[in-house]
Amino acid sequence: MKITLVKKIKEDGKECKKCLQVTERLRAGDELRFIDKIVYADMRDPDSVGLRLAKEHNIDIAPFFIVENEGTASIYKTYMELKRKVLNKGKEPEKKKTSKDFDIERLNNEFEAKTPQELLEWGLKEFHPCIALAWSGAEDVAVVDMLVKINPKARIFTLDTGRLNPETYDLIDRVRERYGIDIEVIFPDAAEVEKMVREHGVNLFYQSVENRKLCCNIRKVQPLKRMLSTLDAWITGLRRDQAVTRTVLKKIEVDENFGGIIKLNPLADWSHKDVWDYIHKNNVPYNELHDRGYPSIGCAPCSRSVKPGEDIRAGRWWWEFPEGRECGLHVKSK
Ligand code: SF4
Repeated sequence: MKITLVKKIKEDGKECKKCLQVTERLRAGDELRFIDKIVYADMRDPDSVGLRLAKEHNIDIAPFFIVENEGTASIYKTYMELKRKVLNKGKEPEKKKTSKDFDIERLNNEFEAKTPQELLEWGLKEFHPCIALAWSGAEDVAVVDMLVKINPKARIFTLDTGRLNPETYDLIDRVRERYGIDIEVIFPDAAEVEKMVREHGVNLFYQSVENRKLCCNIRKVQPLKRMLSTLDAWITGLRRDQAVTRTVLKKIEVDENFGGIIKLNPLADWSHKDVWDYIHKNNVPYNELHDRGYPSIGCAPCSRSVKPGEDIRAGRWWWEFPEGRECGLHVKSK
């Protein structure tokens, strides 16, 4: 088997940012040694090897991987796909830790009075690299700061629903640059999105709760499910004070919604003020929308600013009743 990594050189002579990030991920995971050849699609040279390969395989993104095996060439458009289907294939599955390995009630008693950082340290010690923070691009950026300070290699992912605000995309890049970290951006299945939009329209979520849940399922829940299936535990920035649906949130939960995976909520007992005190004290970059009256930020069409005194989640799916305002990412945890 031979693996070729095709990277892109932009018109200005610089290597594309995503190519650099993928190389860094391969290096961090000690996986560069599996890459037999790196070639470049040089935008200044139509005859460059990489551009010829891109044309030959009808690929218009970079980087991508060509895996040649017994005379057949297969294309992998993302690092995660290569990792899952090629690099990890045939490996003995690593021993997975599950909720059965822990006394969750005892742990909750132990960590209830402890700091978020202490819970994160425990989580990383038990599960890294099979644990990752699901970062929403909002004020849970405080957890990004805590996590990176504990372990710069801690994993962070975010769901790009395709409907985020420009300010959220801007924050993702600012955080990436500020901390010098990779953020795993997870996308929905393109075919499912196309089918949904074809059948129900682009802004289907305003038509009914059912349509809104369909959109959240395809754009958020399914991609999250795919990501969590590769992990033993995940971390969120959820807090009890965020919504009527979150008042009983525990710091450590068994998330039956996603196959019984362990879910850590280090900010569960923090208030809105605690989070913002931390952000300001530590000079953490934050989403500009917060300064424009958005205490809670989700997708652009489903979030709006709130008036002083209004509930902090009042701007999320504001046309629905508060009791049902969850997207399916955070329900039914034990
Ligand atoms: S928040 Fe709105 S746009 Fe985003 S996935 Fe849910 S329904 Fe779709």
